Amino acid sequence: MGTSKKLSKYKEKRNTDKSGEPEGKEAKSGKNRFSIQKHNASNLHYDLRIECDGVLKSWAIPKGPSTDTSVKRLAIKTEDHPVDYLKFEGVIPEGEYGAGEVLLWDVGTFENITKKDGSLKPLKEAIKDGHFMVNLKGEKLKGGYALTRINEEKEEWLLVKMDDDKADARRKPTSTETESVKSGKTIEDIEE
Ligand code: MN
Repeated sequence: MGTSKKLSKYKEKRNTDKSGEPEGKEAKSGKNRFSIQKHNASNLHYDLRIECDGVLKSWAIPKGPSTDTSVKRLAIKTEDHPVDYLKFEGVIPEGEYGAGEVLLWDVGTFENITKKDGSLKPLKEAIKDGHFMVNLKGEKLKGGYALTRINEEKEEWLLVKMDDDKADARRKPTSTETESVKSGKTIEDIEE
């Protein structure tokens, strides 16, 4: 517990007193939670956060997640966030880093299903090595998702829905399921 080196980038980028975001505190992990925030910053994007090693490993996904196995979505790895950020929803004021509305689009738990030589590979190691798979149990997203790093320098990854009974090419959840799982609000409701 307490402040941590892992979150130094998070703290460098923002003034949490002004932004209203959680402080940069590390917390005990082990609950395997994840969330996705819809973030109406200078560019609208979705932030995927996965609890690992006392922080939230984070990726910004410009087009958001898909339930279609044939769609590859760019995911740019961003700074680790504190576990307290998991269910954050609100408005980051103008002038602050990431200014704009944040909506809790999905939340739930996940199971690491990354295998190496037939046995489970620890998530921290798999993320470091640039490839991992998780089974999501969210309110919106369910089933297997794979993340694979395609450019280490630019921290570019691809997010792909795995082929299972939760895959659905027609669903398009980012277009049709726009409400917050926390407040029921849309991004426009949060703006007001
Ligand atoms: Mn963001």
